[in-house]
Amino acid sequence: MYDLVLKGKFLTGRKLMEGSVGISDGKIARLSTGELKGEEVVEIERERIILPGLMDTHVHIRDFEQTDKETVESGTKAALHGGITAVFDMPNTKPPVIDRKTFERRVKLFEGRSYTDYALGFLLKDNCREAGKVNADFYKIFMGASTGGIFSANFESDYSCSPGIVSVHAEDAEVVSKDPERPPEAEIRAIRRALLASKRLGKPLNICHVSTADGVGAILNSGLPWVSFEVTPHHLFLTKRDYERNPLLKVYPPLRSEEDRKALWKNFSEIPIIASDHAPHTLEDKEEGAAGIPGLETEVALLLDAVNRGIITIFDIVEKMHDNPLRTFGIGGRGVEVSGEATFTVVDLGREWTVKPEEFYTKAKWSPWEGKKLRGKVVITVLRGEVVMEDDEIVGKPEGVRLNVQGG
Ligand SMILES: [Zn+2]
Repeated sequence: MYDLVLKGKFLTGRKLMEGSVGISDGKIARLSTGELKGEEVVEIERERIILPGLMDTHVHIRDFEQTDKETVESGTKAALHGGITAVFDMPNTKPPVIDRKTFERRVKLFEGRSYTDYALGFLLKDNCREAGKVNADFYKIFMGASTGGIFSANFESDYSCSPGIVSVHAEDAEVVSKDPERPPEAEIRAIRRALLASKRLGKPLNICHVSTADGVGAILNSGLPWVSFEVTPHHLFLTKRDYERNPLLKVYPPLRSEEDRKALWKNFSEIPIIASDHAPHTLEDKEEGAAGIPGLETEVALLLDAVNRGIITIFDIVEKMHDNPLRTFGIGGRGVEVSGEATFTVVDLGREWTVKPEEFYTKAKWSPWEGKKLRGKVVITVLRGEVVMEDDEIVGKPEGVRLNVQGG
């Protein structure tokens, strides 16, 4: 007798199976094509699919002195609502996570408050000694100024001393300071420099939110197996013409031309990771020019809608929001296999819904997709054998744990 049995269609590896997942003590105890007995049996309706628990490697949870923008509670509830079971917390907070003391505060802040699992980042900027004192899950470097304003004067020296995998915001400081519009050249130049350093150092690198055709081209041409990169849904689905119509769509790196957007789709199969860069601000801050778009509660649905339109497959979503994040950051124990953690994202491909940000859990009560009809929705989120979100309601407790990140 299992604690919980999920009955329906589930995905294991690249195979869609019909049957039962037996769960005990928060772990997958058995995968069966038949029936299993459980203390609780949840029947997953026919058009629904049980996916491995999806994760988002780029989230600004804010909190600290910016609880008006987002808190660990609101941000991780938003994540569960969107089908995200683990978030990677970005360290350009106020105050920034640049020393041991602040990192330890961040650790304490998440404990007992986070509704999802999480990885904690540390901001690198001439602070290698401090970086050596913490055991962060990843290290973030800004090559040019973004929200928070801190950036590396010397990218290569910060990268070379990083104790673990580096996620880099690649926009060139000089171009950015001269041109607040942040033209494609800002990104392309920074990516080329990051790749040169990575070739010399041979250390794991994850390039965040790549938005340009030439940026993607440079990474793919470099062929460095230890380099990964992320693309955001807003760069996949929106262009600068949308920004011209709606100034709230200001974001770093900015929305690009239709040609750049098309290039991202052309190379879609080569994109390792899709991550939201969820960057919540209050509406007042947005009106004053803050850069950032909330994305946790729409990213999976946008991709499901793309599955329904025949553009991508359900396997693409799992590859880019589960398999590759695990591989890139060296996280074990989260596969859909016996003894793996029973953490799942259940999606309904047939469900049509309209994006209503006022019903979202994020404190950023707006969305680029407000009013848009999407086909495909996350309906249940399961964390270690507990149903924690069902039909838009958070029913779990703040029982998220820190991911076991071993480094890439
Ligand atoms: Zn970001």
